Amino acid sequence: MNETLAGWIRESKRIVFFGGAGVSTESGIPDFRSVDGLYNQQYDYPPETILSHTFFMRRPEEFFRFYRNKMLFPNAQPNAAHLKLAQWEAEGKLSGVVTQNIDGLHQKAGSKRVFELHGSVLRNYCMRCGKFYGLEHIMNTTGVPKCECGGTIKPDVVLYEESLNDEVVGGACEAIEGADMLIIGGTSLSVYPAAGFIDLYRGHRLVLVNMSATPRDGRADLIVREPIGKVFAELP
Ligand code: NAD
Repeated sequence: MNETLAGWIRESKRIVFFGGAGVSTESGIPDFRSVDGLYNQQYDYPPETILSHTFFMRRPEEFFRFYRNKMLFPNAQPNAAHLKLAQWEAEGKLSGVVTQNIDGLHQKAGSKRVFELHGSVLRNYCMRCGKFYGLEHIMNTTGVPKCECGGTIKPDVVLYEESLNDEVVGGACEAIEGADMLIIGGTSLSVYPAAGFIDLYRGHRLVLVNMSATPRDGRADLIVREPIGKVFAELP
């Protein structure tokens, strides 16, 4: 166990966790930038292109083929990192989870205050009438999913070129500003504006738990380069 990290966790009362795709790799969901991540696999178009608003509007068939194959993991289960964060919140030590993930695993683990900066695959809306559809509707249809009104159903996921939800951003920023410890984990910190929000933390307990180096390693008070699920499983 990392004793410095464990000690800070015991002493802190308003921990905020800021995470990304690396939090869910131990649940079997590939990230984007690891060697076996999505960006290092071969497709007709780069994933950044497919997952853009322009591509979604112009080639919805192609978008949904990729999306169903590569972005949906309905059977994935929370790992030790998700579970530990939910435990800390229940103990009154953690004031929020800010995540770039869209997989819903933090809530599945029991976390309540989750700020999903990039939305969730569990929510889908008709672009014409706004009717809500769950993940099962996307799983159980083929091609471009259509609403009963005839409109196209769009996942409530923030695509490239789209802006973040103001309310979610506001909550996330407030939580980070008020944190007495910020743990950043499983993120390359390369997606903006999300990665910029960590600058709102002004304290001296900034911990980075990530397998590879990030552009913000210089700001960290402690760096742990091990799988986050393994690290968190050992923490109090
Ligand atoms: P990223 O793929 O850019 O970076 C992931 C980082 O996590 C890498 O630096 C990698 O070294 C590290 N990592 C991987 N497994 C780890 C582990 N077990 N323990 C510790 N570190 C680990 O991911 P990102 O920064 O989140 O940005 C990618 C974007 O892709 C996000 O906006 C997110 O919305 C989206 N995405 C989400 C999911 C998901 O919901 N699970 C999956 C893939 C991509």
